[in-house]
Amino acid sequence: MAKGADFILPSDSLPDIFTVNNFTEEQRLIRDTVREVVANTITTDDAVRTIESKDLSFSRGLMKSLAELGLLGAEIPEEYGGQGLDKVTGAIIAEEVAKQGSFACTFLAHTGIGTLPIRFFGTDEQKKKYLPKLVSGEWIASYCLTETGAGSDANSVKTTAVRSEDGSHYILNGEKIFVTNGGFADLFTVFVQLEGHGLTAFLLEKTFIGLNVGKEEHKMGIQGSSTTTIVLTDVAVPVDNVLGEPGKGFRIALNILNLGRFKLAAACLGGGRLAIEQSLKYSQDRKQFGKSISEFGAIRQKLAQMAAKIYAMESVVYRTARNLEEAIGKVDTNDSRKILKAIEEFVVECSLVKVFCSEALDFIVDENVQIHGGSGFCEGGPERQYRDSRINRIFEGTNEINRLLAIGILLKKAATGSLPLMSAIKQVVGESMAPSMMQMEPEDLVERLTYYLNNAKMAVLFAAGSAYEKYNVKLEEHQILLMALSDCLINIYVMESSLAAVAKNKTNLNTGLVKLIFNDGLFSVERLAREIIPMCAEGDAQKTALAMVRRLLKFTPVNQEELCDKVAVDLLKRG
Ligand SMILES: Cc1cc2nc3c(=O)[nH]c(=O)nc-3n(C[C@H](O)[C@H](O)[C@H](O)COP(=O)(O)OP(=O)(O)OC[C@H]3O[C@@H](n4cnc5c(N)ncnc54)[C@H](O)[C@@H]3O)c2cc1C
Repeated sequence: MAKGADFILPSDSLPDIFTVNNFTEEQRLIRDTVREVVANTITTDDAVRTIESKDLSFSRGLMKSLAELGLLGAEIPEEYGGQGLDKVTGAIIAEEVAKQGSFACTFLAHTGIGTLPIRFFGTDEQKKKYLPKLVSGEWIASYCLTETGAGSDANSVKTTAVRSEDGSHYILNGEKIFVTNGGFADLFTVFVQLEGHGLTAFLLEKTFIGLNVGKEEHKMGIQGSSTTTIVLTDVAVPVDNVLGEPGKGFRIALNILNLGRFKLAAACLGGGRLAIEQSLKYSQDRKQFGKSISEFGAIRQKLAQMAAKIYAMESVVYRTARNLEEAIGKVDTNDSRKILKAIEEFVVECSLVKVFCSEALDFIVDENVQIHGGSGFCEGGPERQYRDSRINRIFEGTNEINRLLAIGILLKKAATGSLPLMSAIKQVVGESMAPSMMQMEPEDLVERLTYYLNNAKMAVLFAAGSAYEKYNVKLEEHQILLMALSDCLINIYVMESSLAAVAKNKTNLNTGLVKLIFNDGLFSVERLAREIIPMCAEGDAQKTALAMVRRLLKFTPVNQEELCDKVAVDLLKRG
């Protein structure tokens, strides 16, 4: 079984990862069914117009119809009315529903951060009371953590809970902002400071007196999704509605976000696929200078790069989905401590995948607009997707916070010895002194790229070691350095996952895509490692370190013109 963050350790062999080629018959069937339902009911012109007008009763109706297909309870155990399906299937569903950005936000907030806190941390009574209603679509769920003064700094929540004198309930006061589904939610998971305990989660029903929904935000994108404030004025909440242990709200909040992050990445993949389909079609239809614009190299390069990003997204999303499933699937889901531990195992990967996929989607939707020219900028073209995509880098933890989190957890794993990072770094530094380090580059593509990947890992470990040696526990004060290290991790995870996927399914197209992914990834790691060294070393030590990085990251770049052309022709043929 995979261990969290072990992808960074050098190895001569590739991991045996789960890929889309490993989908079961049932998973394929679910994908095809959801795809058809989405096409017929959610992405039709009429449905999109109604969703985007923020007709929340229409969205509620759509949620109901998805509930009838079992999609709201896909990952909820059967005893609460759900389907008891795995995380891979959850990712497949997220990918398909994401073809409509606003509705995807409604759906994912409900099924993810809205429902999962109860599924994982609720008591038997809470699960019996609320999960069947959420699974059937009778109730809509929301998650309320953010406040005016508590965004990224979630621990500084000011909303309070005080126990009533007779001890029968708590009194809650405060205000939450940016609550997705706030305008039509029936259940609110609210994180507050419980007197004498600290951050604690509570389950609030819409009918609780003193709970008031504020005005809808007018947003840049996902305009059809509801985002409101929630004002709590002396709301009396029964003691039975505390979710999880008092004072353990922060861990619950962050770990639910973790699962939310991974789902968000799957949704970005779905958005990316939609955008490239549009680009492929438009570039063939649109004629300029007497030919389809898809015949121009500049456009072909865009199509090839978009596809490479999608292949990379697909590889990291399904690898992570399966790893999460294996970690969570083997623990008793009634034991919240074990659940927390299982989710935390892949916390680094969840953050990296969220950052990578949200930024990859922004790249793709931007190129989609560009390929559409002026039509791309005007209403009715792909401009809405461009606007919708932007939120993904902000919510579920901003990408800066996720970058910091990923590298922070990795260093913690190294410090506690749960990941043998320090010995790996020592070995890299030792080997770097040995003149025989560089071997001949292997002929076979997968072997050659594995060799490049290993060298890139060594360069990253070397850079991380230099940083740790210089700053030690003060490293957390050096954010620019940490951001660069985190970007190195993203590149390594993306390259390894894509290559491991290709090794299992070596088609001409996949091979071309992985070459593009490596070209980009290796150049990025080289640049980042060379930026990191001057932050950690001076004088001769700096020169030696830079030379070492250059030696490790020696690779032959691809012929972009030839490769992008080949990949684009293949893509255009397949549509
Ligand atoms: C449409 C929408 C829907 C949302 N849905 C929900 C929801 O359902 N439930 C919910 O609880 N919240 C929700 N949010 C809130 C969202 O999660 C927060 O907006 C997000 O976490 C960022 O917080 P903030 O807006 O206060 O930004 P800030 O925390 O003020 O950040 C501003 C900038 O500073 C950077 N920054 C902050 N701290 C640091 C640091 N330590 N180091 C480096 N950089 C830093 C950030 O990365 C960002 O670039 C939603 C927001 C939006 C816009």
